[in-house]
This record gives sequence, C-alpha cells and structure tokens, in this order.
Amino acid sequence: MSSLEPSSPAAALAAVAARIDKARAAAIRPAPFTTLVAVSKGHGPERVRPVLEMGHRVFGESRVQEANAKWPAFKLAHPDVELHLIGPLQTNKVREAVQLFDVIQTLDRPKLATALKTEQARTGRSPTLFIQVNTGEEPQKAGVAPQDAPGFIAWCRDELELPVGGLMCIPPIDEPPAPHFALLQKLARDHGLPLLSMGMSDDFETAIKFGATHVRVGTALFGARETETAASHDVAGMVQK
Ligand SMILES: *Cc1c(COP(=O)(O)O)cnc(C)c1O
Repeated sequence: MSSLEPSSPAAALAAVAARIDKARAAAIRPAPFTTLVAVSKGHGPERVRPVLEMGHRVFGESRVQEANAKWPAFKLAHPDVELHLIGPLQTNKVREAVQLFDVIQTLDRPKLATALKTEQARTGRSPTLFIQVNTGEEPQKAGVAPQDAPGFIAWCRDELELPVGGLMCIPPIDEPPAPHFALLQKLARDHGLPLLSMGMSDDFETAIKFGATHVRVGTALFGARETETAASHDVAGMVQK
C-alpha cells in the first residue's frame, strides 16, 4: 500500500467530487456537467464494491478482458452502471466490448469503426463513442492525428452513422496539458460534438477549465493500482504491440 492510499473509498470519493465542484465553480465556461469516470482498472471487485455501494455508477476500465472478469456481476446487481472503455480496443475484442461497455472512448481508426458498425447492426447494441485524438502526435500512442480528426469524425458520424458523442485525449506526460485540452475543445466545437473526455488524477482540474464533460480518475480515488505490471504503461493509452 502506498502512502497515497486514500483512507477510505468514501473519503476519497467525496474529496474528488469536491475538487470537481471547486474547479467547475472557478471555470469561466465549464461544460454543462462534469461526470466523474471512476477508473477501476488494476483493482479487484472488493475495492470497487464500496464505491458502488455509495451510489457511484460511472466507471472506466482499460482492458476488455479485465473488465469482463469484474463487471458482469456488478451490472446485474446495478443495471444503471455506466461502464466506459478507456483503453485501446482491438477489432477481435469488439464483440465482447459492445456487449459489456456502455461507452467506448477509444475509437481511433477506420477498421475499428467498421467493426463497431457491423456489431451494432448485428446486435442492436450501440455504445456511445468518443473518438480518441493523439493531440501530442506521439508515435507510440493511440488516437487519430489532429489533422486527420476532421475527416475521421465526419466519416464515422455522417457516413457510417455511428453514435459519436465526443472526443477523448491523453496528453503527453512530459508536457503541460492545457494546450492539448484546448485543442480537443476546439475540435469538438468545430464539429458540434457535446462530450469531452479529458483529465486524469493529476490534471482534471485543468481539463475542467477547458470544458471537460468526463474526467477519468483512478489513483486519486482508489490509490495506487495493485496490478501495475505490464499495464503500467497503459496509463498513457499506449498502443499494445
Ligand atoms: C489509467 C487511466 C486513467 C486514470 O489515471 P489516474 O492517473 O490513475 O487517474 C485515465 N485515463 C486513461 C486512458 C487511463 O488509461
């Protein structure tokens, strides 16, 4: 257990909620709402349960397989859970992902878009989609390049008629995040997309300044992850090689 370990899930949830409220109050033009996506990757069900029992319903996971081991039972018990996929999605996992997730935040390439379309047609299930933008143009990171975003957004939404609700980004860890959040906000505005997923434990207050509707917070809620093995570098949404 690290010293960052929150004293209790209740205290941690209240503290993060208070920080969100404060950042929204200080923002000149905050989004109409900011939803806390509680990122439970790397934590077992026993850590998630108390947060669910406190009434929190929106959660994020990075890996389809890990989520499938943890969430079907919780979703049966709490049908109003909203589960977000925030890690890279391989096309061979699309079927499982569409079944389990209510929101997929990491749409980033044509092959994945067509696979999602096919699965949507087959099942009638249609998770809300965010397009992930690689705002820092980092070669190892998932996401469409900013210059390709307008074409990709238009194609997914207007040609494929996929339910694209917004954009998501993960800024480079070694740069100030604000310019990246500003870029994502502008892209979303230009395309009339209402949702913006940006901001993690270290920078969600800044993201709220730039209109975040969804902040993805793990460590500040759950403490250090237990299973930070190969997954540690997933934090930055790296492409899985
Ligand atoms: C793990 C992860 C988070 C949460 O990160 P924390 O720093 O623990 O808050 C947010 N977004 C993505 C895409 C992640 O992979």
